[in-house]
Order: sequence, then structure tokens, then C-alpha cells
Amino acid sequence: MNQPVPHNKSPLLSLVVPCYNEREVLPEFMQQVVPVLQGMSSMDYEVVFVNDGSRDGTLELLIGIARDHERIRVVDLSRNFGKEAAMTAGIDEARGDVVVPFDADLQDPPEVIPRLVAKWREGFDVVIARRVDRSSDTYLKRKSASLFYKFHNTISDIDLPENAGDFRLMSRDVVNALQRLTESRRFMKGLFAWVGFNTAVVEYTRRPRAAGKTKFSGWRLWNFALEGVTSFSTLPLRVWTYFGFVTAFVALSYAAFILIRTLIFGNPVPGYASIVTILLFLGGVQLVGIGVVGEYIGRIYIESKQRPVYLVQARYGADEGAERGEN
Ligand code: UDP
Ligand code: MG
Repeated sequence: MNQPVPHNKSPLLSLVVPCYNEREVLPEFMQQVVPVLQGMSSMDYEVVFVNDGSRDGTLELLIGIARDHERIRVVDLSRNFGKEAAMTAGIDEARGDVVVPFDADLQDPPEVIPRLVAKWREGFDVVIARRVDRSSDTYLKRKSASLFYKFHNTISDIDLPENAGDFRLMSRDVVNALQRLTESRRFMKGLFAWVGFNTAVVEYTRRPRAAGKTKFSGWRLWNFALEGVTSFSTLPLRVWTYFGFVTAFVALSYAAFILIRTLIFGNPVPGYASIVTILLFLGGVQLVGIGVVGEYIGRIYIESKQRPVYLVQARYGADEGAERGEN
């Protein structure tokens, strides 16, 4: 769809920035990021802002920015689709030879971008930026993130690199590969890991948000984690089969035990408490099992509708790109 630039020019870097209610941080963003991009003499750059249904005037601000900078474009989604979808939109829209997803809140220092590019020049297709110091995140967030990665990597076929967010560099080949993955619920960290390719790692220190508030509450993160697990593992489904076998085996052994005891000692009144406990326990376990199955059926249902991942309502900046295909 998007053609890389011809080889007589310097390669193009696309910075993809999803924005949801980021008005407060954008001026600072421009001040910090644009000089870094301009400073890379061997690279051309473009910035693709994706407005993910903001309600705080972010779009107006972005349109103004795009008007003043010819290398900046804005893709306006028709509502809030969530960060994963917004990032997908931006990556689809990017024309660069390399694409770098980048948060608007400046938690990831722009100075790392030239280091990613340097690694790419050494021949890597993917350069992951790994956080070595997450002290800017709360203790709870770090702990839960680390637990999530451990759990996910134990039960999934793919390994998510720990302490790496969406901030990374991808070559055009990797972007093309990503675009061949058709699922509409996009757990990007998983998709990035799934496509593979030659990968290098660059380490950096993550900072606190420059302004504005985080968009991810505890509940949203929990659902995000569920999304991650169900996207890349069917172990939660399979585990019930084994659990069923074990339960059946225990039940049979217990039956044999009761039989023998009755033959030897006769039949005293059997325990009411043990029956209730077993009944409630198995009832609870079955409900959890059904819940897990439901989680997956829900995903099948959503995927089967084949709805697009996002809808673009308008584009601003550069050539206003209106002639390009909708997604
Ligand atoms: N974001 C988005 N849509 C959403 C939520 C977030 O585009 O529904 C963007 C947000 O504007 C920011 C990035 O995703 O650029 C990361 O969000 P945030 O910094 O709030 O997440 P955190 O760093 O706290 O995990
Ligand atoms: Mg952030």
C-alpha cells in the first residue's frame, strides 16, 4: 500500500504517535521531539499523529501543528478505539522505511530514537527499547507487569520481552509482516513478538509522564492482560481437561475407599459436610471453567464479525492523503 521512498534519498523514519486527550503534553512533545528528529542528518522523518477520539481539543491542536509542519500528518479516528487500534492505524498510515511507535506523554525519551536507528543501520529489523529503570512507574504497576510477563511467557508459545513497551523500531519488512496479521483485536506487544525477525535491544530509563494523566486504570490493565493471554495461548482452555481427569481420578479413588470401608466397617451415617464441600467446590470450579470458555467464545464471536480495527474520519497535513485507500 505505502511505497518506501526510492533509494537515492535518505531513508524515511515514521514516528507513530497515538493521542487520546493529550492536549496538555503536546506542546512539550513538539519542543522535545522535533529537534531530535531534525538532528538525524542521515534520516528523513515524518510524524503520524493518530487522534483516538480525544475530547479535550487535542485534534484542533494537532491540526494546527500539521499546518505548520509539512512533515507532520494527523489521522483522525471516528471515535476512541483504544491504543492498540490507534497504533495500528498509525502504522498502516506510515510510509517510512522504518516505523517507530511512540507515546505522546514523553515517558520514552526521544533521544533514544537515534540509538534505535543506529542499531537498524547495523542490519537489525527490529530494535526493542527496553526499560532498565522503571522507578517512574508505581510499585504496584511494576509488580503486576512483571507477574503478567512471567505468567504469559510460561503459558504462551511466544515470549514477550520483559520491560519492553510498544516503543521500538521496525523495518518496512516487519511492518509488512504485521499488516498480514488479520485479527481485529490487536494485542500489539504479542503481534510484534509473533512476527519475529532479527532483533536487537537498546536500554533506556523510562521517565514519568511530562503532563496529563495516564489513560490506563487498573481495570483497563487487567482486561489488557486478559487480552494478551487469550490472544496467544489456549492453555487456559486445555487445562480443564486435565483438571477433569484429576478430579475423576480422585473421585474414583474415594469411591473405592468408601466401598472398602463399608465392606470392612459397615455403613455408618456418611458425612454431610464432606458432600456439601465437594459439591460447592466442583460447582465453583465448573463456573470458572465455563467463564474461561466464554472468554474465548467471546473472542471468536468478535473476530467472526470481521469488523475493521478502526475507522478514519479525516486526515490532515502533508497532501491531506485523502486519495489513499480507507482501512
Ligand atoms: N492512548 C490512545 N488511546 C487510548 C488510550 C491511550 O491512543 O484509548 C495513547 C495515549 O495518548 C498515549 C499512549 O496511548 O500516547 C500511552 O498511554 P498512557 O501514557 O496513558 O499509558 P501508560 O504509559 O500509563 O501505560
Ligand atoms: Mg504513558
